[in-house]
Amino acid sequence: MSAATTVYNDLSPAQLVELGIARGEGQLADTGAFVVTTGKRTGRSPKDRFIVKDATTADSVDWGSVNQAFDPAKFDALWQRVEDYLETKDQFVARVHVGAHDEHYLAVEARTETAWQSLFARNMFIRPDTFNPRGKSEWKILNVPSFVCDPARDGTNSDAVVITNFSQRRVLLAGMRYAGEMKKSMFAVQNYLLPEKGVMPMHCSANVGEAGDTCLFFGLSGTGKTTLSADPSRYLIGDDEHAWAKGSVFNIEGGCYAKTINLSKENEPIIWDAIKFGAIVENVVIDTETRHADYDDTSLSENGRCCYPLSKMPLANRRL
Ligand code: MN
Repeated sequence: MSAATTVYNDLSPAQLVELGIARGEGQLADTGAFVVTTGKRTGRSPKDRFIVKDATTADSVDWGSVNQAFDPAKFDALWQRVEDYLETKDQFVARVHVGAHDEHYLAVEARTETAWQSLFARNMFIRPDTFNPRGKSEWKILNVPSFVCDPARDGTNSDAVVITNFSQRRVLLAGMRYAGEMKKSMFAVQNYLLPEKGVMPMHCSANVGEAGDTCLFFGLSGTGKTTLSADPSRYLIGDDEHAWAKGSVFNIEGGCYAKTINLSKENEPIIWDAIKFGAIVENVVIDTETRHADYDDTSLSENGRCCYPLSKMPLANRRL
């Protein structure tokens, strides 16, 4: 670590937004949301996603074009290379949980190159009152978007990669600006780990009524999970990733990551109102003067997104 660089630990949203602006990572919208663009990748890159194939995973992963194998030695070399690269820069550490359940949470240290991706980690994962109360072995995320992978040297498919290493409990994101990769990588980890414990992970939204009646909404991306779960008369559990354990449906995440295409206050007032200070708006066109977002303008992406913690929702976070 050079004397000129700083490691920022568990900064608050206000500190992260201030630093994000000072470092030129994005700008404020008129609502106070932090606005970013992610370059050529504005959605996930399935061909750049790998899992380290070793004794832990060799017989338990359905290998193929979806779950591509990555060599353990190549992983170690690339992790070290990315870590060395990040040592020359400031870095942001967020300690979070993945899984809102006393027994089934993962304790995760997310190390990112940018302040805004640290804010994303805070928003989308869970900020516990006490980090890792059971003293579990921690997972580590290393997320360095400005690192450029070399396929010939690094064994990647392109200039960017997402690799999960279950034996070492590590997730490496290099060259990936689109923040959804970090969120989905940890869902994939829980998808692998939870079934072994008799818990079913589900790609669905969930809310619950006063009587404890839980409702799950299943559907592919863009079919309305977030919208349908944001019901003013019911408590939101979450909008995308849940797990069903004995006696409990719990959120894997701590925030929402909603599509913004054609978003309007009239049609989706709860989501609209959540896009305030502390929220992130990704790949949405902003007026240069008024800083008003134009959610109908898809010139940056059809997959414009906003990200906010569940605490921004009027009725949220009630545990069963
Ligand atoms: Mn989803």
